[in-house]
Order: sequence, then structure tokens, then C-alpha cells
Amino acid sequence: MHKRILVVEDEASIREMVSFALRKADMEAIHAPDAHAALVAISDTPPDLILLDWMLPGMTGLELARRLRAEERTSDVPIIMLTARGEEMDRVNGLDAGVDDYVVKPFSTRELIARIKAVLRRAQADGGTGSLEIGGLRIDGPAHRVYAGDAQVEIGPTEYRLLHFFMSHAERAYSRAQLLDQVWGGSVYVEERTVDVHIRRLRKTLEPFGLDSLIQTVRGTGYRFSTTQ
Ligand code: CA
Repeated sequence: MHKRILVVEDEASIREMVSFALRKADMEAIHAPDAHAALVAISDTPPDLILLDWMLPGMTGLELARRLRAEERTSDVPIIMLTARGEEMDRVNGLDAGVDDYVVKPFSTRELIARIKAVLRRAQADGGTGSLEIGGLRIDGPAHRVYAGDAQVEIGPTEYRLLHFFMSHAERAYSRAQLLDQVWGGSVYVEERTVDVHIRRLRKTLEPFGLDSLIQTVRGTGYRFSTTQ
């Protein structure tokens, strides 16, 4: 099965360059010049991954990412954001919107394809893992759902991966660099503060269930998932 990649980009030259690279990498490219066209394309069948330009006419890429994350049908579809230099200050906002990775323009198609493959691999690994239960939290791997007791926890895709990693490696401290490597994938260049952003978000997600203390800060090291204080 060819992976279907939705390319949301208003610049035709970039759309064409990316589509050419995707086809060469044996993937199928679907085009949308703006957020509205993207929503129309997604309403049919959600793609395997979305390449989303940050600056789009009308609804921005960031707004579209938030909207896709909020909808159950598209909440798990990986998103790679395309940003121009100078927009990097807003990266943290993008991470909060549940974006999986960033590629800064101008990029090489080789780098882009490598990032796409890494994100697709991670998404696939998530779906294939089993269930875990620790400290009142349960991950149903095949269903990609998290429960606190009987209540389902609404969780973003990156927080899900982070929690899954923590629960698979409970009671051990990890540095930010190790977490980046394990959860974001070694080939992906993201900053260490990205980890802090998603730790905050994960704690906020668990807070209503009184389980945020499972995610502990280890001074001078990083973080750990632990059921003992
Ligand atoms: Ca643009």
C-alpha cells in the first residue's frame, strides 16, 4: 500500500517539488492550496500524513492543525509543519497544537522524505504496541487510547508517545536528550525545550484525574514516570 501524503501548501512550485519527491519515494501525493481544500480532501479519507505549510491564505496551518487534532477522525494523523525561517519563535505554539515535526524552508527534499519516513515509522510503531497498566493509568495500544480508571483520557499524539515510552520504562530517569532520541526519533532535530513543553502538556492532561504526579522531574537529570514519590 502506498502511503498517502496530503500536501497543504499555497506555493505551487513547492507543491510540485514535494509531490515529485514523494512519488519518487513511492508515496502518493494529494494537493491542497489552502486549509479549506485540505478539509475537503480529508473529509473523504484521512491521509497517512499531512505536510502543512505554516503560512496559508485564510486559515493558517497552525489553526488547521489545532482543528485536525480536535476531531477524533483526524486526531492521530501525523502532521509535519513547513515553516519559513523567522517563524521558529512560534515553534512552541505549534508543538502545543500537536504537530509531530517541523521542517524549515528552504529544505532539501531528501531531508523532508527522511522526516516523513521517521514520523510514519513512529506512528506505525504506536499502533502496533500492546496494552500497559501502571499507577491507575492504562494504555490500550491497539486502540491507541488512554484510560484513568474507567474514564478515557483525551491526549495529543506526542503526549501519547511520551506517556507510552514512560509507561514502558517506568521508574527510570531519562534526560531530555534521551527522551528526544527515544520518543521523537534520533534523526529528528528538535530542541530539548520541546521535551519540557510536552511534559507540561502531559501533566495538564493527567491533572484532572489526579495522576500528574506520575510524571516526575528529576533534578539535574530530566524526567521519570514513577508511582512512588
Ligand atoms: Ca505559504
